Amino acid sequence: MGAGLPHALRDRDAFDAALGGRGPAVFLDYDGVLSPIVDDPDAAVMSPDMGRVLGELADRCPVCVVSGRDRPVVQRLMGRDDLVVAGSHGFDIWHPERGTLEHEAASGYEDLVAEVTAQLRAEVGRHQGVLVEPKRASVAVHHRLAAPHARAEVEALVGRLLAERPDELKVTPGKMVYELQPKLDWHKGAAVRHLLDVLGLSGPDTVPLYLGDDVTDEDAFRALHGLGVGVYVGDPAALDRETRADFQVDDVDQVRELLDSLAR
Ligand SMILES: [Mg+2]
Repeated sequence: MGAGLPHALRDRDAFDAALGGRGPAVFLDYDGVLSPIVDDPDAAVMSPDMGRVLGELADRCPVCVVSGRDRPVVQRLMGRDDLVVAGSHGFDIWHPERGTLEHEAASGYEDLVAEVTAQLRAEVGRHQGVLVEPKRASVAVHHRLAAPHARAEVEALVGRLLAERPDELKVTPGKMVYELQPKLDWHKGAAVRHLLDVLGLSGPDTVPLYLGDDVTDEDAFRALHGLGVGVYVGDPAALDRETRADFQVDDVDQVRELLDSLAR
């Protein structure tokens, strides 16, 4: 069980002390932070209120969204494309004026993803209920609607693909889906460090602030340790891990309240 953290709203003096009078550069996870978690992931749109606050904040300081989802999906759910977005767990970084921002892990994996996609389609794609979904930097194979024998075939194939390419591929199991990704040392934390660098935000007058609720956000909290301020969204006492965040807020409404206070 994790422990409680100081609260970014209720312990506001401590939070302001952590900011230390520096201007914030704000990094935000999307699901569970800017938008509540809902049953249908396609319906996780941002509220108009959150959109307004985010716009006001972006007029005052740099704002970047860092999500596990594909970047165009995040932009569609936000209903705006005027913010820096790092999609696909930070792999696909896009800037509204500069376009795609290259980084060391950004390319060279298209062939691998295409080959694995072709192999999945050829071997299990014919099964009813199996859906092979190529993404920018990964391929997902969904089997929620598949019969048990087809599911077993998918599982066996995923195991074989990993065994054939142990140094190149990793798998992230989800709910009735396997996501096969290039095995890279790149994550949300690496993306945030990269953005601080290329956006010129690593000076002493700027404090990076990161808000997230996922296990993948821990990479960003870790990357900012001693450098910025991490805010966990939710109840850290309910976690089965120790979060590396410095503060907490309870939910999406409190995220909005905190961002609103930073925008003034
Ligand atoms: Mg999240």
